[in-house]
Amino acid sequence: MLRFYNTLFRKKQAFKPLKTKKAGLYTCGPTVYWFAHIGNLRTYIFEDILKKVLEYSGYKVKHVMNITDVGHLTSDADTGEDKLEKGAKREKKTVWEIAEFYTKAFKQDIRHLNIKPPDIWIKATDTIKDQLNLIKILEKKGFTYKISDGVYFDTSKLKTYGRLWKSKKRQVKTRARVEIVVGKKNPFDFALWKFSPKGTKRQMEWKSPWGIGFPGWHTECVVMGIKNLGIPFDIHCGGIDHISVHHPNEIAQAEAAYGKVFARYWLHGEFLILNKGKMAKSEGNIIILENLIKKRFNPLAYRYLCLGAHYRSKLCFSLNALKGAQNSLDNLYQKITELAENSSPSNSKHYENISRSVKDYQERFLGFIQDDLDMPKALALSWKLIKDKKIPSQEKYKLLMDFDRVFGLNLSQIKKIKIPEKIRELVEEREQYRKQKNWQKADEIRQKIKKQGYIVEDTEKGAKLKKFST
Ligand code: AMP
Ligand code: ZN
Repeated sequence: MLRFYNTLFRKKQAFKPLKTKKAGLYTCGPTVYWFAHIGNLRTYIFEDILKKVLEYSGYKVKHVMNITDVGHLTSDADTGEDKLEKGAKREKKTVWEIAEFYTKAFKQDIRHLNIKPPDIWIKATDTIKDQLNLIKILEKKGFTYKISDGVYFDTSKLKTYGRLWKSKKRQVKTRARVEIVVGKKNPFDFALWKFSPKGTKRQMEWKSPWGIGFPGWHTECVVMGIKNLGIPFDIHCGGIDHISVHHPNEIAQAEAAYGKVFARYWLHGEFLILNKGKMAKSEGNIIILENLIKKRFNPLAYRYLCLGAHYRSKLCFSLNALKGAQNSLDNLYQKITELAENSSPSNSKHYENISRSVKDYQERFLGFIQDDLDMPKALALSWKLIKDKKIPSQEKYKLLMDFDRVFGLNLSQIKKIKIPEKIRELVEEREQYRKQKNWQKADEIRQKIKKQGYIVEDTEKGAKLKKFST
């Protein structure tokens, strides 16, 4: 039985979809003013795993993701610059060019990480009309007020505001420190529509019944979610930072406008941490996927690293940790190659025992992944399986291919490595130096081989080659 930790109720709950074996999934997408950093990507990996677990469990998933190309300000308190306009100034491009460039970069990142794209992508700028309609509904129902800076949502009018928070008191404390827009009635009130500043022409602005401007960041997800998944829908996700502002504000608009629960299960991924602080552009400690690829890491090593930590636990990133993940992934690929080579059908007399053990592995795997996506345990089980002498290679291979429908490590694409002649010659030359105990020369050749994408390992049976899994 599938169980998820639902932030809305602060406990694990059995997943009961609205429609049998179907799941509507909404995940907050990127703000395309710069590259996604590997912290952001951790959240998208978690959401991909969720989707793969749902599919593995027999659900047909309809997945929607937004692309924020307008309206996300540098501060969560409706102050500061629009991130897209800021990016355009920085790169001396138009906001439209910035959005297009970083959307492409994002799509490439998720391809590298084997993240399945959503069924529906939507840009915030393609839904301005729907966003205006939602604000009109809210206005009609008395939830809005207009000040010189824009149209705001009056949170004091909605009794259920802040349901996602653990404690209202704590939120008041943490949010009391933020800069407040003059004229805002309550500290939590948020912009639905911001006016273009007087005397300046923004690159992205639209007419509205209240004045020329642009939408607040929290409105797009509400219209996109409801338009494509209905209200309520099943699952809504994002990073843990969205628990305090973005998601309560999404929920507020949907509940105020339609008097219905917005989404039934809210899942949030913990942060990727670097040097004890969260990875964030404002902290100046950003790493992007491209940096790792340039260092010759396989992007899937980063995916492997993320699989090793539960999505609700902080994950500390370091290059050493990533090197460890790369080694484990290379080992896994090596094992898969060996299993593929030895996987002729077994004619064991213990067929019944074997099939019982195989079933046991399948059940345990399902138990782990369905228990709030316990991927570290599922990964550990796979290594246990690889070492299990009772299971024939062919069965191991089949099980691992099946598990990889969730891991997404491209195990089925591992083929027998064909070593180029040039590399073989280098290995032989190195062996000669080793026999002569000329370790320096041997090491130089090892480096040469490494530069060509292969790792030499000295085993009892002689030198063994592994290909970098890039
Ligand atoms: P943004 O593009 O800023 O809207 O962020 C995209 C996603 O990344 C959101 O779901 C955030 O909650 C998430 N996120 C931001 N920083 C981190 C981090 N350091 N670790 C994990 N997720 C993050
Ligand atoms: Zn959102």
